[in-house]
Amino acid sequence: MSAIVTGARIEDGSVRELERSFRGELIRPGDPGYDEHRKVWNGSIDRFPVLIARCAGVADVIAAVKFARDAGLLVAVRGGGHSFPGLSVCDGGIVIDLGPMKGIRVDPEARTARAQAGVLLGELDRETQAFGLAVPAGIVTHTGLAGLTLGGGIGWLMRKHGLTIDQLMSVDLVTADGELVRASETENPDLFWGLRGGGGNLGIVTEFEFRLNPVGPTVLAGPIFWPMSESAKVLRFYREWIAEAPDELMTIVVHRKAPSVPFVPPDLRGELVVAVVLCWSGPVDEGERVVRPLRKFGAPVLDLCEPKPFLAHQGMFDPSFPHGWSYYMRACDVAELSDEVIDITVDHSLRIRSPLTAFPIWQRGGAAARVDEQETAFHGRGAGYSFNITGVTESAEGFDEEREWVRGFWSALEPAHTSVYVNFLMDEGEERIRQAYGPEKYDRLKALKRRYDPDNFFRLNQNIAP
Ligand SMILES: Cc1cc2nc3c(=O)[nH]c(=O)nc-3n(C[C@H](O)[C@H](O)[C@H](O)COP(=O)(O)OP(=O)(O)OC[C@H]3O[C@@H](n4cnc5c(N)ncnc54)[C@H](O)[C@@H]3O)c2cc1C
Repeated sequence: MSAIVTGARIEDGSVRELERSFRGELIRPGDPGYDEHRKVWNGSIDRFPVLIARCAGVADVIAAVKFARDAGLLVAVRGGGHSFPGLSVCDGGIVIDLGPMKGIRVDPEARTARAQAGVLLGELDRETQAFGLAVPAGIVTHTGLAGLTLGGGIGWLMRKHGLTIDQLMSVDLVTADGELVRASETENPDLFWGLRGGGGNLGIVTEFEFRLNPVGPTVLAGPIFWPMSESAKVLRFYREWIAEAPDELMTIVVHRKAPSVPFVPPDLRGELVVAVVLCWSGPVDEGERVVRPLRKFGAPVLDLCEPKPFLAHQGMFDPSFPHGWSYYMRACDVAELSDEVIDITVDHSLRIRSPLTAFPIWQRGGAAARVDEQETAFHGRGAGYSFNITGVTESAEGFDEEREWVRGFWSALEPAHTSVYVNFLMDEGEERIRQAYGPEKYDRLKALKRRYDPDNFFRLNQNIAP
């Protein structure tokens, strides 16, 4: 293969030839829609590809791969565009954008669903919840199913139903040679192993097939808030309270300034708070009993935990992480909320400046932790908690300060770091990617990469170089 080219001027003739067979949309600089479609979720990323191929189906994906290969173009692949470091757009190359591929088919009897690579989490939930079913996935509805699944997929249902990949049955994938292959437990099982955690390294997934589980449609869910000055006490109580929690309970702790949204009383807005956000996916009355001790702890300033449709709960974080704001994030897993981890957390949280900065600490464990560590490429099933320390501003103003706050906080936690979830990495270099997989899985993924993508055609990802 010829060398990868960035900043290239692609030949008009070759694009015209691609255009003749392409069913989707081909967008070049200067075309209407170019700026709209080169943007990704993280507004701090601003890149200029030479071509955006908005694929309408598998044939378009194959054509775009072959075109990029012949032209020697750098390739970015986009599902939902939510990569924190902006890996789904590039300067001077081609974006293979799967966004228009929105097909979803639910089989309520077989309890399975097929979803194409442009589907967003909320779109899949809408279809599956019509039958009281769900795929365990993430916590923000506008996240892409593709990138999330390929990294593992953690969310409100993982303690009950496992990671997103634990319910994955098969995928259709276009390889770096433009061939369509299927991977499942029985077809190309080694590839299937690697796709469950290995990200976009091995090819472009065009369709996913999942098992579905009964969920809700009513869950007991929502946040309970205390003043952040109480956080050290709340977290010490919380770690004891969840120690024996049933799998139906999943919680996320958030430190932030209370947002200016209708459900927050005006006098609380802008105040530093800690919230335990929970989702109980079992029978509601049983959940009320489990949640009662937390509700009674100290003096919560706001309690919004109530029975509600799972779909409504899934959308709860959407306004906190909209498209176009500037985001910087560093992540780590820790084994436990030790006194030291709690004290570092409180100390740094009290220094939050931006009214938009909000960071989750995820409870882990449950069903996701009981799957054998060797079964998939995803690493770190035994983690106790995952920190996503996220700094957020509306624009570039104040962003550098938030980034420094994130880095300082993350470094302070370094003695407690165990693993890191690959989908929560920024552009942090090879050693961190190795940490995300652990040395053995990293080597196994490298061997797969050598087989399926020896030229590193798919390199804009948490890259495992062949
Ligand atoms: C607001 C927000 C909320 C989040 N919440 C969660 C959460 O609850 N749980 C969780 O586990 N993660 C969460 N994440 C992290 C998320 O899983 C990753 O950012 C993921 O990469 C997003 O997928 P995407 O398709 O939107 O991303 P994209 O930016 O489109 O792609 C991300 C990576 O995947 C590759 N890729 C995308 N589609 C394909 C495909 N079809 N075939 C091959 N490679 C592909 C891309 O090339 C890129 O390297 C969240 C992220 C954000 C921004």
